[in-house]
Amino acid sequence: MSDSKKTGQNADEQKIMIGLEIHASLGTKTKLFCACTTEEAEPNSATCEVCLGHPGSKPVLNKTAVEFATKIALALNCKTNESFFFSRKTYFYPDMSKNFQITQYEIPLAEQGFVELPLGKKVRIRRVHMEEDPAALIHPNGMGKSNYVLIDYNRSGLPLVEIVTEPDIESPKEARDFLDKMENVLKYLGVLKGENPLKVDCNISLEGGARVEIKNVSGFAAVEKALNFEIIRQKQEIRMGKKVEQHTRAYDAETGLTVALRKKETEEDYGYIFEPDLVKIALSEKEISEIQKTMPELPDSKAKRFQQKYSLAEYDAKVLCADFELGKLFEKMVELGAEPKTSSKLLTRELLAVLNHDSLELSEIKVFAKDFAELVGLTVDGKVSDKNVKNSMINYISGNKESPKQFLEKNNLLISSSINADEIVEKIISSNQKAADDYKKGNEKALNFLAGLVMRETKGTLDPKKAQELLKSKLKKADK
Ligand SMILES: [Zn+2]
Repeated sequence: MSDSKKTGQNADEQKIMIGLEIHASLGTKTKLFCACTTEEAEPNSATCEVCLGHPGSKPVLNKTAVEFATKIALALNCKTNESFFFSRKTYFYPDMSKNFQITQYEIPLAEQGFVELPLGKKVRIRRVHMEEDPAALIHPNGMGKSNYVLIDYNRSGLPLVEIVTEPDIESPKEARDFLDKMENVLKYLGVLKGENPLKVDCNISLEGGARVEIKNVSGFAAVEKALNFEIIRQKQEIRMGKKVEQHTRAYDAETGLTVALRKKETEEDYGYIFEPDLVKIALSEKEISEIQKTMPELPDSKAKRFQQKYSLAEYDAKVLCADFELGKLFEKMVELGAEPKTSSKLLTRELLAVLNHDSLELSEIKVFAKDFAELVGLTVDGKVSDKNVKNSMINYISGNKESPKQFLEKNNLLISSSINADEIVEKIISSNQKAADDYKKGNEKALNFLAGLVMRETKGTLDPKKAQELLKSKLKKADK
């Protein structure tokens, strides 16, 4: 019997089980339990006795935070609990001056939801709960590089929503798909704070092995990399006949490796107790339905509407709505009079190709619906070739201030009229009689040669297919 058999694990056949815990920062104006601002401020200036944990101070629950958290729960198809309460999670660390964090444990805000991935698989959501953020620990010159640490209590008490999935995710790629989809849903809700509101902890195990947690990975690409590394590492352990123990690891983005931190505490180790300073909260059906009424349209229903209203293909509608900014841009263009199908094609094919090529997100660049609507107009009127649509797009995305239309005009890339193309084709034929004769004798290559000359003469404004068609029709006529 091999060593790996003895441990009951076989490295290559193990099913991968991944569960995620996502902390989302809510975009409320004030903190979760006090009136301190959530805006950027001088370190340790946005604090009060409540978020510093002074004796005798009493927390008061922020109603807007409950509303935002409920929206998240509803958008993730969760069942909200009629009543819930807060607990104290006891631990000692400099980032928590009270020695406990107010969070939810026994009865969270909501449970039993799901997120549907693009291919239809449902990843179950175990729970959604609210909690306060601890203070920020600042390591001068980077982690472990100084013998002291700075603390900023401005972050202490910021409202967080924690979303916990069941271990339904079966690959690092699927984890990334899940996070993309979930982030998009949360963006539609408009309840998140700032540019990077999500932090992810990953739990991963190979069937039969213990669960390993990778803490605080920032960025979805990093989540995928960390998980990929961890799978290889755990398989290696199993092959060497070792048993994977339950513990917590950190991901080092510079090296792409995970490193062991500590033996994982179980939730019981924290000694949760009921938070006596906050009353039990009841959310009535009426209150929930009021919140439901203020819910914006979410990606899946928006995609269905795009399909029906603008006669788009299902796939295109889904691609448009899979990015909050892209869907918004599309509708603005249509409002400005751009033809829907051409607009959809321009965004889902050309724009996304350019963005992917440069590893850019739409939210990172500045584009105007008006400029794209203009380009769609030119395309519909047949005034610009596909090639130059792409060129004008590349120029626009690269940060040049000129719009695609300005770029096309400046470089004489607009097709003025078809007569012009006719004349050019005739001119090319008459000055390249030998090639024209070769084509008539059946040499297809000669046609490509002539089409190339036409393209050069028209500076690529003519569609190559159109150039070939014009040449063919003229060479036939000349034959008669
Ligand atoms: Zn405060």
